[in-house]
Amino acid sequence: MPKTYIIGHQKPDTDSVVSALSLEYLFQTDDSFGYQDPEAVIADPVNNETQYLLDKFQVKAPRLLTAQEIKETDQVVLVDHNEESQRLPNLNFNQVCEVVDHHKVNLNLSQPIYLNFKPWGSTTSIIYFMMKQYTDKPVKPTKQLAGLMLSAILSDTVGFKSSTTTKRDQKFANELAKLAQVNDIESFAFEILKAKSDLSGLSPEQLVKYDYKLFDFGQKVLIGQLETVEQEKFIAEKKTQLLSAMLAVKEEEKLDLIFLAITDVLKVNTKLLIADDQSARVAQQSFKGIVSSNILDIGPKLSRKKEIAPVIEKQLKG
Ligand code: MN
Ligand code: MN
Repeated sequence: MPKTYIIGHQKPDTDSVVSALSLEYLFQTDDSFGYQDPEAVIADPVNNETQYLLDKFQVKAPRLLTAQEIKETDQVVLVDHNEESQRLPNLNFNQVCEVVDHHKVNLNLSQPIYLNFKPWGSTTSIIYFMMKQYTDKPVKPTKQLAGLMLSAILSDTVGFKSSTTTKRDQKFANELAKLAQVNDIESFAFEILKAKSDLSGLSPEQLVKYDYKLFDFGQKVLIGQLETVEQEKFIAEKKTQLLSAMLAVKEEEKLDLIFLAITDVLKVNTKLLIADDQSARVAQQSFKGIVSSNILDIGPKLSRKKEIAPVIEKQLKG
C-alpha cells in the first residue's frame, strides 16, 4: 500500500518534529484528507531540546527516513520548510503533494499541490488551525500531543519574544496549555529555553551544524544559530574552536559564506560569529556594523528567518 510521509527540514528543530507528528495525528484522525497510511518521519536525529520534550510528554521520536526508502507510489508532505537546500537529500519533489510552512516560499512547481503557508510563529500553529478549521468536526490533540504542540510554539517563538510571534500563536498556545494541563506557560517557556541552551557534549563542528540552514542567495550561504541563556560565557569559552570549525565546514560544504548566530534568548541579542574576510564584508554591508574580533553584534534580533537571512539575501541580490 502506498504511504504518505510527513517530514520536516534537515537538522530538525522541535517545530519540525512536532508539526510532522501533529499532522500525522490529524490525517489519521480525519480521513477526509485522503492520505494513505500517513507517517511522521525525520531527516536527521532530533536535537537535545526535542528529545527532552519528547521524554517529558512520553512520545516516541519519529523514525529516520532516507530518500531511497520512498517508493514511486508514495507521497510526501513537507512541513516547516520548502526550499530544496533544506529538504531530505535526494527527495523527488514530484512526489510532494502538500507543503505546510511559515517560511519564505522558494518553490518552482510544475503541477498543482496543496500549499498552506501562513506568516505565523510556528508551523505547529498552522496545523492546530487545520485541526480546528479544516475538518467537519474539530480534531482535538491528545494531552501528550497538546503538550508537544505547546512546546513547539514556545520553542519557535522563543517564549513569544521573537518578532515572528502573532496573536494567534499566543491564543493557540493558551488553548493547548489547557489541553495539556500546563498551568504556568511562562515557567514552561523558561524550561524549554534551558533545554534549548543545553549544548553540552557537542564538538565545535557539531555546534556549527547543530541548527543550520543553507540558502541559495546566488551564493551558497550557511547560517547557523545557537540559542543560549549565557551568550558572553559561551562565546568566551568556544570562540576560537568555533571559528576554525566554521572554516572547515565552509571548505567541506563548498560554501561562499558562513555565519554563526549566537543568540541570547533572555537578553534578546544576537552576535554573529564570522571566520573569514568574505563573510565579514557581507555581514558589515548587510547590518551596517563593524566586525571586531570576529564578532558582529546585530542587536536585539532573535529570528533567523525574519531578521537575519532576509537582510543578507537583500545585500547579496541587491
Ligand atoms: Mn524549523
Ligand atoms: Mn518553524
